[in-house]
Amino acid sequence: MTNGTLERARARLVEALGAEAVVVETGALDEYASDYTEEAPRRPGLALRPARVEEVQALVRIASEEGLSLTVRVAGSNVGGLAIPPEGGAVVDLRRMNRIVEVNREDMVAVIEPGVTWEQLKAHLLAEKIPLRMGYPLSPPDTSIVANCLLDGLGNLSMRYGAMADWIGGLEVVLPDGSLCRTGAPALSPVWFGRGPLPDLSGLFVCSQGTTGIVTKLGFQLWPEPPHRRRTFILMYDRNGAFRAMRELAQRMICDDVGGLSWPTGKMLFGVDKPGARDPGEPEFFLYLDLSGQSARELELRAEVLGEVLDGLRREGFELEQPLDVPTLVRLNPRFSKFAEFPTRLEFLVDHPGGGLSWVGTYGPLSRFEAYGDRGVAIMERFGFAPILVSRPMKGGHFGVMRFIATFDKQSAEERARVREMSGELVDAGVELGFIPYKTPPWVVERIRSRLDPGFLATLARVRAALDPRGLMAPHCWPVTAPGRQG
Ligand SMILES: Cc1cc2nc3c(=O)[nH]c(=O)nc-3n(C[C@H](O)[C@H](O)[C@H](O)COP(=O)(O)OP(=O)(O)OC[C@H]3O[C@@H](n4cnc5c(N)ncnc54)[C@H](O)[C@@H]3O)c2cc1C
Repeated sequence: MTNGTLERARARLVEALGAEAVVVETGALDEYASDYTEEAPRRPGLALRPARVEEVQALVRIASEEGLSLTVRVAGSNVGGLAIPPEGGAVVDLRRMNRIVEVNREDMVAVIEPGVTWEQLKAHLLAEKIPLRMGYPLSPPDTSIVANCLLDGLGNLSMRYGAMADWIGGLEVVLPDGSLCRTGAPALSPVWFGRGPLPDLSGLFVCSQGTTGIVTKLGFQLWPEPPHRRRTFILMYDRNGAFRAMRELAQRMICDDVGGLSWPTGKMLFGVDKPGARDPGEPEFFLYLDLSGQSARELELRAEVLGEVLDGLRREGFELEQPLDVPTLVRLNPRFSKFAEFPTRLEFLVDHPGGGLSWVGTYGPLSRFEAYGDRGVAIMERFGFAPILVSRPMKGGHFGVMRFIATFDKQSAEERARVREMSGELVDAGVELGFIPYKTPPWVVERIRSRLDPGFLATLARVRAALDPRGLMAPHCWPVTAPGRQG
């Protein structure tokens, strides 16, 4: 896009949205040029801050007429470079669209705009004394719920209820031509109760990273708050014992959540910026479990089953400690309070001196956790990174998440290059074992392209071309080319 075209687009956008909603100052635009990762910065030509759906429609129409690319962003915390725009394009910053439109208590769904954050909806439920709970990711509290549902992210109720795209009760979307579309239940019903039973057009906007439209409202499913809850930690001396426990516990259906974190996270929580090698006497993994019940008795019965599973593991030779409840841990060391209540800000990942955070996050079969764990940890150690590994079974054990995390110094070109090379190997190892990278960064799409089903690629490209013929919506994301069309 030439300077002249950008200037004409800017003038039209100022007229449609007002000057305060069109950001052009270099300093302010720098905020949008990068994220936590090693991805090279790209500065947008301008940023747009709409407050209403009509403004989103207007800006999409103008961008389409002027050939201006649009990349949506809320907090930019996706850890994949997804919200970094192409150089000179426009960023659509949705943080001002942060209305909680309604919370339907009986049907347990909140209709929210994309700027609504985890901490905001939690505060609302508390203030209004609404006895419903939501699932939380380990994301910073000021990030977008809608973005995470659209990315099919994961949270502490994913063991029970699946990944977050399953929690969508319907969408309102501004399409690339500026028209408005409702998908799922709200296409027909006043209650945003689910994605079916009409043809599931919501899927067009899930994991497509803003390439097919801009979601302006989403039905977010909530669940009853059980009166009795317990969060417990178990120290395990063997990674494979932890994976085994996850599978067993998932299939017994006694927990709301079973998560596993590897030893460097514990060290980092206690202030070690760059953990060295593990002392063989230290636990390798800690599991955290959420149990709940309608009565104290129900909770106790679940805890009994947990005890049986753990005894079984001990009999098989796995070494593990007795479960410790979080209040006890917090009494022993207040730093554990980071895991006591969600949402939480894991400063050791996002506020450390080097500032860089990158990961390869995948969903895949639980039966292959041990194999990917072995290969992933070996790769990370070979590249000189502490093997931070986060995993959990999801949807009752039908699949799970394996995420290898690296913190690094963003100022060091050598570390940035090393992280990227390591991530490439982690992606390859995971894909070979049947794991699929989620929140798929553009560079990962390139890496896995030759392995993707050609019919999948061609269909995705056709859908994209049909909805966005000019290729202006997040053109850097999911780079695919329709048959017979130049990319
Ligand atoms: C320390 C840390 C821990 C994390 N833990 C987790 C975790 O446990 N589970 C998890 O799932 N994630 C996790 N994340 C990732 C991330 O925080 C979440 O995915 C978060 O919800 C993304 O929100 P955001 O506002 O940052 O989205 P952004 O990064 O701003 O946007 C994400 C993507 O969605 C697109 N998008 C956003 N809004 C819209 C819209 N309205 N319409 C169309 N496209 C849109 C953007 O273009 C972009 O491609 C973590 C991140 C960090 C830094």
